[in-house]
Amino acid sequence: MLHRNLVGGEWVDGERRANVNPARPGEVVSEYAEAGPDTARAAVEAARSAQPGWARTSVAERMAILDRIGATILGRAEELAVLLAREEGKLLAEARGEVARAGQTFRYYAHQLLQPQGEVYASTRDNVHAEVRRRPLGVVAVVTPWNYPLAIPAWKVAPALAYGNAVVLKPAELVPASAGELAGIIAGAGLPPGVFNLVLGAGRVAGEALLTAPGVDGVSFTGGTTTGAHVARQCLAHGNKRFQLEMGGKNPLVVLDDADLEVAVRCALDGSFFSTGQRCTASSRLIVQAGIHDRFVAALVGAADTLRVGDPLDPQSQVGPVVSPQQLAQNLGYVAIGAAEGATLAAGGTSDGQFMRPTLLTGARNGMRVAREEIFGPVSCVIKVGDLDEAIAVAADTRYGLSAGIVTTSLAAAERFKRDARAGIVTVNLPTAGTELHLPFGGTGDSNHGPREQGGYARDFYTVPVTCYTGW
Ligand code: NAD
Repeated sequence: MLHRNLVGGEWVDGERRANVNPARPGEVVSEYAEAGPDTARAAVEAARSAQPGWARTSVAERMAILDRIGATILGRAEELAVLLAREEGKLLAEARGEVARAGQTFRYYAHQLLQPQGEVYASTRDNVHAEVRRRPLGVVAVVTPWNYPLAIPAWKVAPALAYGNAVVLKPAELVPASAGELAGIIAGAGLPPGVFNLVLGAGRVAGEALLTAPGVDGVSFTGGTTTGAHVARQCLAHGNKRFQLEMGGKNPLVVLDDADLEVAVRCALDGSFFSTGQRCTASSRLIVQAGIHDRFVAALVGAADTLRVGDPLDPQSQVGPVVSPQQLAQNLGYVAIGAAEGATLAAGGTSDGQFMRPTLLTGARNGMRVAREEIFGPVSCVIKVGDLDEAIAVAADTRYGLSAGIVTTSLAAAERFKRDARAGIVTVNLPTAGTELHLPFGGTGDSNHGPREQGGYARDFYTVPVTCYTGW
């Protein structure tokens, strides 16, 4: 299987690279043609030429095309899920969920076009009509990470296309096959050539060419916070491009004394270890009140130790591999850092090939590096606190602010947490990870810059409000 770049409706070759299975490192899942800066710039030019025509197509036509893309994804769900599981290492069940999410997202934005697209105001002047219309942003570069190879491209590309933009997608280097298949589906759905383009290249080469290209009006980026800061600087320096950044997290899950222990363990297990902890919304700080602390830790260690880590295609597996040798080295490095900082290794900490045992560090303090820096693996730390006030303060004491959860049976504590937690997503008696496509998604602090993604809020990034005054 070979995936190439899509530029102006043509499949463009490049230097061939292998895409390997993280669960079976010798196994080549597919090959892809790496794009250099020239291919990236050609994709921007193709998008530039195609965008005005696309913006003028009827809503009915755009709806039909988006709906067709969604239906094709859903129709090929099993095949796409297996490919996604093989290239990213996500369990097949999780991959199926992700494919379904991607398909539904295209359908959702098809139907979003039937929602009101502007606002009418009363003018303060006689014989004047005042309204706010929306026009497309223009050419959008979409730069995505490896951990949701289909869902994240879908939740950016679908609203971008729906609102009349042309797109250049540059997915992460580790997951070219999912993006390549998505591009094939989009190209086959009847879009005019150039409206959607795919560039399979390295971030520092093809990605950089998109950030600096004069023809790009906006960049929607999801990835690490350091990369995001670079994207922001480049966008400002190269034509004052609009940018939207969704970045890292160090998400707290608070467990209060009055929590249902079973719910608490279930939330912590899911949030910390499922998807191998490779989720921006993963719970990586478990902030636990003193009265339940020892019972919670004992139950969580017991549950973590029995998780079956294995091949994503094996239905018995509960946790898949770490995505790459570099990521595994980083995860194990943090286990050593935690130990050196004085935390206790209560579960896991070991690896076998690219598989890592779910790892729990107890006795952590919020000032430790393992509590401050995003690890992005199946590693979580437990911080003991005295009461709700301290829990809220510790939860908020982070540069990030994507999601925050609490497990409690107290309505008052839950309401207080929803009010005071410093995060873009707050969960009560649910894992910190797990979101729905029709609700806004995004964080605060160093987790986010710019408008929310998903749901109706996505329109804010992909359109420009135009205030119109008409006199007569
Ligand atoms: P990354 O920052 O390394 O890469 C993200 C994307 O940016 C990739 O496509 C990469 O090729 C590209 N890139 C890298 N350097 C670039 C440059 N100089 N110019 C242009 N593009 C460049 O992130 P990753 O390792 O792929 O993903 C993991 C990170 O993503 C974690 O920090 C995670 O928290 C974050 N993430 C955030 C969310 C969210 O919605 N907040 C969702 C998923 C992942």
